[in-house]
Amino acid sequence: MEYNHVTPAVVADLEAIVGAKYVWTDRDKKIPYGQDEGTGPACLPDVVVLPASAEELAAVVRLANDAVIPVIPRGTGTGLEGGAVADSRGGIVVSTERMDRIVEINEDAMYMVVQAGVITARIQEEARKRGLLYAGDPCSGDCCCIGGNGATNAGGNRAVKYGTTRDQIYAIEVVTPTGQIAHLGKRLHKMTAGYPLEKIVIGSEGTLGIITELTLKLVPLPRATAHVLAVFPSPETALALVTALPKAGITPTCLEFMDYDVISVVQDWLKEKQPCPAGGAYMIIQLDSSRDETLDDDCVTVDEVCRRLGAVDVFMADADKVWKARKAFTEASAADCPVAAMEDFVVPPDRLLPFMERLRDLGQALGVVFRGVSHAGDGNIHLDVLRKGFADEGDEKQKVAAFEDKACQAAYELGGAISGEHGIGQARKALFAKYTDPVELALMKAVKQAWDPKNILNPGKIFD
Ligand SMILES: Cc1cc2nc3c(=O)[nH]c(=O)nc-3n(C[C@H](O)[C@H](O)[C@H](O)COP(=O)(O)OP(=O)(O)OC[C@H]3O[C@@H](n4cnc5c(N)ncnc54)[C@H](O)[C@@H]3O)c2cc1C
Repeated sequence: MEYNHVTPAVVADLEAIVGAKYVWTDRDKKIPYGQDEGTGPACLPDVVVLPASAEELAAVVRLANDAVIPVIPRGTGTGLEGGAVADSRGGIVVSTERMDRIVEINEDAMYMVVQAGVITARIQEEARKRGLLYAGDPCSGDCCCIGGNGATNAGGNRAVKYGTTRDQIYAIEVVTPTGQIAHLGKRLHKMTAGYPLEKIVIGSEGTLGIITELTLKLVPLPRATAHVLAVFPSPETALALVTALPKAGITPTCLEFMDYDVISVVQDWLKEKQPCPAGGAYMIIQLDSSRDETLDDDCVTVDEVCRRLGAVDVFMADADKVWKARKAFTEASAADCPVAAMEDFVVPPDRLLPFMERLRDLGQALGVVFRGVSHAGDGNIHLDVLRKGFADEGDEKQKVAAFEDKACQAAYELGGAISGEHGIGQARKALFAKYTDPVELALMKAVKQAWDPKNILNPGKIFD
């Protein structure tokens, strides 16, 4: 497909739609929109546009579709895979940041309607003030927005119990690639009436539609919460908990794994002693309940299961302290050693241990050093591949690529995938194409072709 660049005439048309104040062609203003949190400065778009409503946004997309200009949807740019960034084709970055209104909160029916640009933490806070919980909880919640969460199907800490963003959404309003406004899904608890199209727009990384409004599920705020820290003598014993807890009838809200390497680096960074023996591992288990009595019973069961699996210590932990240690990983790791690559593999939770063993063997064979934390309860593992032990830049590039390729192969062989929550974006599409079932990939491309015949919406993301 031959694309066109934005001309002065197109800029004038965009200004007529959203107002001149919200159309930016100035280089300095565009620079922050030329990158996300995972990619360094990349290609600048021709123009950044900030519509205030679905109608304005739809008019922008119709204009781009007629003129065959790429449109790149953008929330707050905390993505890690270059999804919200233009490629060499340039185009129009459409930011939802002005669409930041909470439209409705219904406490009785427990739902909230929000525009796409609302910051996730604000949604959580508004729900909390009313004794309700919005269960979506990416670690970037303070700075990412709900439209971006929907577009990436963001996961995060509570996904073990409550699922990912897709599970928190009843319905979405979407601007299609041809500039129509569609309402997909309904505030229903069941529906078998045609294809659930909202489900495929969610997680499509801005390639099938631009989400403008979301109807979100809320649940009662748990009355009682406990954090248990279980210290195990080895990763193997710790990871046995992943299957043992559900079998014992416990569904934790969070089940987070940190191995000794990670604990050491966090300990040095925070300058706080961590109670873990050399070679050991942590499992952080968060439990929620509507009643204190049930929570107490669950804590007793967790204690029994952990000790049966060989835990050397199991104790009720201070929530702030334990999450401070878990959340310090990214900063602590980067401060200890520059990071060459970040990975987001996911495997069935019961296969985490064999996957980690394959990763360890691969790292040793290829001379690649890494460390990582895992949302163990849902089989998701975030790795930092360290810039350590390489002869030069070329050596690093080649070895990291070989490691990523083999690690991806291992994930797929174990029934997993290349990304649990960060998405494919621009950064992962080659490996995604290599390891995804060809029939599945062809069907995905057919869906894209049907929705977006001119391929104007976020071209070059997920696949070419
Ligand atoms: C410190 C840190 C911690 C993180 N922790 C987590 C975590 O725990 N779990 C997790 O899942 N992710 C995490 N992320 C990644 C990131 O925050 C999420 O992917 C988040 O959902 C992106 O939201 P955003 O508003 O920043 O989207 P952006 O980065 O702006 O965009 C991301 C993708 O969504 C598309 N998009 C954005 N808005 C829309 C829209 N309205 N309609 C259609 N497409 C759109 C973009 O085109 C792009 O493809 C983390 C990132 C950082 C930097």
